[in-house]
Amino acid sequence: MVSQETLPKKGVIMVMLDTLMDKPFQQALEQEDLSVLPYFMDRGEYYPRVVAPYPTMSVNVESTLLTGHYPDQHRVPALAWFNQKENRLINYGTHVLEMRKLGLSTCLYDSFYRLNQEHLSSDVKTIHEELADQGLTSASINPLMHKGNVPTTITVPSLIRLFVSLEKNIEISAADKFVYGRLANLSPLKKYSRLWNKYGFNNKFSIQEFSHLVKNDTIPDFSFVYLPDHDKNVHKRGPMDTKGIKDMDKQLKPLMDAFPSWEEALKNYIWIIIGDNGQSGVQKDKNKALVDIRKLLQPLKITKLRKGVQNDDQVVVASNLRSCFIYTLKPDEVPVTEIAEKLQTDSRVEMAAWKSEGWIHVIKGECNETFTFKEGGSMKDEYKQTWEIDGDHSLLDLSITENVIEFGDYPDALKRLHSALHSHEGEFVVTSVKPGHEFISESTPKHPNGASHGGFHKNDSFIPMLVTGTDAAPDFLRIVDLKKWILNLIQSA
Ligand SMILES: [Zn+2]
Repeated sequence: MVSQETLPKKGVIMVMLDTLMDKPFQQALEQEDLSVLPYFMDRGEYYPRVVAPYPTMSVNVESTLLTGHYPDQHRVPALAWFNQKENRLINYGTHVLEMRKLGLSTCLYDSFYRLNQEHLSSDVKTIHEELADQGLTSASINPLMHKGNVPTTITVPSLIRLFVSLEKNIEISAADKFVYGRLANLSPLKKYSRLWNKYGFNNKFSIQEFSHLVKNDTIPDFSFVYLPDHDKNVHKRGPMDTKGIKDMDKQLKPLMDAFPSWEEALKNYIWIIIGDNGQSGVQKDKNKALVDIRKLLQPLKITKLRKGVQNDDQVVVASNLRSCFIYTLKPDEVPVTEIAEKLQTDSRVEMAAWKSEGWIHVIKGECNETFTFKEGGSMKDEYKQTWEIDGDHSLLDLSITENVIEFGDYPDALKRLHSALHSHEGEFVVTSVKPGHEFISESTPKHPNGASHGGFHKNDSFIPMLVTGTDAAPDFLRIVDLKKWILNLIQSA
């Protein structure tokens, strides 16, 4: 009998299960009555710790995955950031209140159009673009990031257009098989795409749409299927929620059943089942759990969301749950070091970093030590990246033996921090809080007694990956290294 691995495959199917994490996944496999995930687990290679980019937010994770670059190259810094050129905060949707204050039309146009077509750098190519260049095909089923070479139209539902001034049809370039909720779909089915189903941005709609390709035998060379729902379960019920994993397992069943058999599905395709980012638990006591960035920055004048940047404003805050970008609008009056010193007064701040004269400076809450580093130099890390370092390296939990750097609580710490600080223009500090905590500012979501992400810590940064149908592994176990590996898998398929 020929082994599964040696048979030529028809393509790669990647299913991203939002917020899948190793520990609760292991627990669910033991305790819950699952069918699809254990089927893959028994037949595949399991990698429990793949490193997500920083800040650990979906738009950044997907951009990094699709382009094979960190945000210093792909230029999508996080869910919320300040666009210096346009002098305004960009927010692709952390909270509806926040979006309403910033202007719903602008926010929706940012996420429907600018995110993929303008903000994602045209200097890097997505997997969809690379494959199209080679005459190969791909599908993008419901992720936020989907840029490709094929001109297509998204249609804004009429009910949304009652509240915002958006054109009915927006022209974009995407993957050739493209699903974006109710705004762009493949099957004639309307189920799961109503207003109360978040217009199709849910697991069942993703499954229904991809199953349509399976049933019509039109699965392309690469498919990226995104299941968004589990994020909110973990935010609400905490990192060890297994009910959401059980739900996803159940939802995947009709997808598997759309194939002639589960055996055929695994025989004919390479499957990658992967998370996007982890989450850290947030303490129950709100006063301890939530770090109010406005209080820490007192008495600096912070830009109000509704008003936008005013002449006498001094700083802008772009909050990404457990991380935050803080920009100085007047570097002479308020240098970034002043912002950092204010953050240093709170023991819950696990890291604050900024750029100065070619170096990156790092400090930590209630600690007087500093650490600095820059690219190049004689030190080499686990990923063969080279660095020059100075100061107290315990701030980033580095272990150093001779000239070799190994990471502890902050995987790929140096490159991830370096890329976050070079992901967009402006003079700013990037900061994150310890597990158990979350930043809050004007109208941000709060998850006390639940969980949150966006942070620098390994809790937010490690995700599991389950692969069947190939023995080949990526060069390194980081999301940034998956594009090259996926393209190789498709080319040798
Ligand atoms: Zn989330």
